Amino acid sequence: MIRVGHGYDIHRTVPGRPLVLGGVRFDCGFGLDGHSDADCLTHAICDALLGAAGLPDIGHFFPNTDPAWKDADSQFLLRRVVAELKKAGFVPVNLDATLIAERPKIAPHLAAMKAALAVSTGLPVDAIGLKATTNEGCDAIGHGKAIAAHAVALIQKT
Ligand code: MG
Repeated sequence: MIRVGHGYDIHRTVPGRPLVLGGVRFDCGFGLDGHSDADCLTHAICDALLGAAGLPDIGHFFPNTDPAWKDADSQFLLRRVVAELKKAGFVPVNLDATLIAERPKIAPHLAAMKAALAVSTGLPVDAIGLKATTNEGCDAIGHGKAIAAHAVALIQKT
């Protein structure tokens, strides 16, 4: 049996925090606001996996009121999500995600992000699709005020 899930996340950009996307750190002078490392791409992937399994969302498992998740590495959260899936009798099959960011330039880092996500999910790199686009100057993302991500995940019953 196969199941599909969808995830979406957005975080505001702020000065003075490291930017982490797909487990990769960018040295670009700003980061994302959030309780954890605010890696919106990894959060969207977590929600896609959880949604596919019919499980509650990332906020249920890692509430932003819990000091345990303050500045948490979202790759750790993703590994925990894959463990929750396993408990429910599912394994990931493939992922596809789109990151929407006006800056920094994402394309040169896509391979490193895929490699990090492959380690966290246990998937082969070629089962992870990852694209980056800008918002063409439109809306808050286009003005560099936020970065967002969409993800879909296919999982199967073990
Ligand atoms: Mg988030």
